[in-house]
Amino acid sequence: MSVGSRLPEAVVHMLSPTQQILHSAASHRFSFLVRFFVYVALFVHSSFIVIFGVVGIQGLALLNGVSVMVYVLSVWLARRKQLDLAFFLCTAEILVHAASATLVLGWGSGFHYYISVMALFIFFHPSRRLWLKLGSAVGMLCLYVLLFTASQSIQPNPIVSADFLSFFEQLNLSTFFLINVLLGFVYNKAVEDVEVQLRSANRQLDYFARTDVLTGLLNRRSMLEMLERSLLRLDRVEHPFALILGDIDNFKSINDQHGHHCGDVVLKEMANLLRLSVRVQDQIARWGGEEFLIFLPDTGREDAMLVAERARKALEEHVCVCGDLRLSVTMSFGVSDYRVGETLERTVMTADRALYVGKARGKNCVVLAGGE
Ligand code: GH3
Ligand code: MG
Ligand code: MG
Repeated sequence: MSVGSRLPEAVVHMLSPTQQILHSAASHRFSFLVRFFVYVALFVHSSFIVIFGVVGIQGLALLNGVSVMVYVLSVWLARRKQLDLAFFLCTAEILVHAASATLVLGWGSGFHYYISVMALFIFFHPSRRLWLKLGSAVGMLCLYVLLFTASQSIQPNPIVSADFLSFFEQLNLSTFFLINVLLGFVYNKAVEDVEVQLRSANRQLDYFARTDVLTGLLNRRSMLEMLERSLLRLDRVEHPFALILGDIDNFKSINDQHGHHCGDVVLKEMANLLRLSVRVQDQIARWGGEEFLIFLPDTGREDAMLVAERARKALEEHVCVCGDLRLSVTMSFGVSDYRVGETLERTVMTADRALYVGKARGKNCVVLAGGE
């Protein structure tokens, strides 16, 4: 099974964005390592054929010939995205090769280092079956210990000089060191990449959690949170804040006569006009179906009335276009200001009452709470 399809496509699509990021990061990391690994191993084993051939250890030269064939096959599999199979072949080859070379040349040749590299490498596999990885690592440890014990009682191949053995140990040790550096680098980079992707996914999730999808305004929950935060900060301000509650007039009949789609178009256009009518520091939320709440920080009731009147006029003068239809839509507004010591619910409620008075007065008007 290829790494890309470790989980069936249908299942990957059902994962949360965070899970998808982690799944794809693990797969990419593993894919990069396997590809890198098979090409490097192919090169190294081709060189070993020459070296062992020159030294006259035909058995190991032959073994490296087999290794080269294994890696040619692994390269082919990796290109066909059969990374699991390629990885399995590489692991088997490394273990067999490391064990055979250690038995033939002795512990001092340093071929055993590659067994511990594989024990580390298996943890880069994207599978979540930790027990399988731990089991494999323990198996490799057993092989390592057995190999050490066996190599103590077997005489190294007498054809190889001490200098040549030392050369092999240096070579294997350096390769082992470099592979560890590479694995450390890839792991560190992977963690950094995942962090960046998760941060961006979190920003997106946060945006969707705070935003009304239809209008792009704040949703009710995030407006409430913001109002509560403001209450903590504004106790010493002369005019803590004012609220304007707007409600589209006769909106139900727009839906009934022209369809829900037109209703949605009207909602979006109204939201945009409200956005243009307020100051940058003001915040607007879609408070309910066709109700909007505007938060005006550090604003008194008179200034809030001016803002509401400006918005009402802008909406009244605007013509909403929905297909061939041209619709004139109006909105009624209730305005209230926060009095220190009162609850948030009360301020919203007084704006709502003022709005209700406006509806009763014939709609398309602005009413100030307490001045009804
Ligand atoms: P009033 O002038 O007194 O405010 O009357 P109204 O018709 O505007 O108010 P009413 O509360 O009777 O109707 C509100 C309608 O808004 C009913 C509901 O179907 C519609 N609505 C709520 N949310 C949406 C939405 O997201 N899209 C659309 N198209 N309609 C919505
Ligand atoms: Mg309405
Ligand atoms: Mg309403």
